[in-house]
Amino acid sequence: MIRLGKGIDKFEMKGATAIVGAGLPTPLLARRTAEAGFAGVERFIGIPGTVGGGVFMNGGAHGAEFAEVLTECTVMDARGKIRQIPRKQISFKYRASNLGNVVVLEAKLALIEEPPAKLKEVQGRLFRWRKAGTPFDLPCCGSVFKNPSGTRTAGMLIDECGLKGFTIGGAQVSPLHANYIVNTGTASASDVLKVIEHVRKTVAKRTGVELELEVKVIGA
Ligand SMILES: Cc1cc2nc3c(=O)[nH]c(=O)nc-3n(C[C@H](O)[C@H](O)[C@H](O)COP(=O)(O)OP(=O)(O)OC[C@H]3O[C@@H](n4cnc5c(N)ncnc54)[C@H](O)[C@@H]3O)c2cc1C
Repeated sequence: MIRLGKGIDKFEMKGATAIVGAGLPTPLLARRTAEAGFAGVERFIGIPGTVGGGVFMNGGAHGAEFAEVLTECTVMDARGKIRQIPRKQISFKYRASNLGNVVVLEAKLALIEEPPAKLKEVQGRLFRWRKAGTPFDLPCCGSVFKNPSGTRTAGMLIDECGLKGFTIGGAQVSPLHANYIVNTGTASASDVLKVIEHVRKTVAKRTGVELELEVKVIGA
């Protein structure tokens, strides 16, 4: 297990290009670029995690995603060889990339000049909205299911099926936001997987929509 963080968290603006280390927390990327007067990633203010994870997963929020701003990333392969990959060689999908078996070390992002005050106002509004609808007080792994095509989000569909608060062991469909499964204290991975299965089956039966996992299940 490799955890990138301090030491690989550089932040540098060269004109309108942000050059950022993969260990930089994504909310910090959003704040620093906004403070420097550049738009493009300001809406990432509430995405937990690092730039490396964000690039690899094509993280995003409120209609913006890494795929739109990335121009190049530096990666290291399993043999320790470091190389640059230009954006046109990377294929991104909703919360997925084809980067494969590499560690993202650095990303170059093309941004656009905007007044910092305007960006700060947008971030304040989005952050308040996110705080009100996200169970930040309990451990969770973020949005469990991808939003299906159509007008209803995964959270809406789960809520419509009356599953908010549904609990197995210590794993619970968050009463605040139905697309989050929170650990109320004693949840095991098995509890979480059972809740996922129950939600998936119930939503398919009642609405006809097959929900697809957004989170990655490892080792099960
Ligand atoms: C409360 C909450 C809210 C969230 N909201 C959002 C949201 O709005 N939008 C969104 O997109 N996500 C959201 N997430 C999910 C998560 O925060 C993002 O996907 C984040 O970008 C993942 O980054 P990470 O550094 O935590 O990666 P991890 O979760 O540690 O890893 C995710 C995947 O990326 C790989 N990876 C991580 N770092 C690298 C690297 N440097 N190089 C290569 N591969 C790497 C890992 O191996 C793994 O496969 C949320 C999560 C939580 C808990």
